[in-house]
Amino acid sequence: MIIKPITRRQSEVLEFIKLFIGKEGYPPTVREITEHMDYQSSSTAFHLLEQLVLKGYITKGDSPRTIRVIDRGKLDNPELKEFEVVLIDGRLVIDLNELTEDYKVRGYTGLPETFDCGVIGLIPVVGKIQMTDEQYAKIQAAYSNGGVCDWCGEIVAELSRPHFHDFAPGKWMCQGCWDHDREVYKGSYGDDIGKFEPIKGGKS
Ligand SMILES: [Zn+2]
Repeated sequence: MIIKPITRRQSEVLEFIKLFIGKEGYPPTVREITEHMDYQSSSTAFHLLEQLVLKGYITKGDSPRTIRVIDRGKLDNPELKEFEVVLIDGRLVIDLNELTEDYKVRGYTGLPETFDCGVIGLIPVVGKIQMTDEQYAKIQAAYSNGGVCDWCGEIVAELSRPHFHDFAPGKWMCQGCWDHDREVYKGSYGDDIGKFEPIKGGKS
C-alpha cells in the first residue's frame, strides 16, 4: 500500500481534529479549525481538509461536524524516510544513500545489492519512494544477514538457528531470545545451550 505523505500544515490540522474529537466527543467545524489555526480565511482550512480527504486521512460530509478521521493504525506515521529510485540495467533500484566499506552504494532491488558509486551517482532519478522505519529496518537487516526472529518477531541484525531444545527447521532466533532461553534452561534443567552464535549469510 502506498502511503501518501501529508504536509506539515495538513498534519497540524489533522492533529487538531483528533485532539478536538478526543476532548469534545464530536468533530470541529471548518470555522473552529480556521479560528484555532489562526488562518486568514476559512478557504485555507477548506483546502487543507480537501487534501486530507484526497489522501485518505479523513472523510467529510457536506453538513457541519461531519469530519471523520480514518484509522490508519501504524500507517499513519509522519516519520517516513524518502529515497530516490534509479533505473540500472532495466531494473528499479532504491538508492539507500549509504556507502559501504569498500566504496559501494547500497541499492535495494528486493534483494540486498550494492553498486559502484560512479554508476549509481550518474544515473537519472526516475522517482521517489517512502518507507516507514519498520520497512527500512527490514532492509537494513537484510544487508547484515539479519531479519525477523521467528520467536519474538523483532527485526535484528544477527540471527542464529534455534538451539536444540527449540529446534525447528527453517526457523531463526535472535540473541535476546537465545539468552533468555539460556537462563531458563540453566535454571530449570542445569543445562547450558551455549553462547549465541550468529550465522553469516543468515536469512537473506
Ligand atoms: Zn527473538
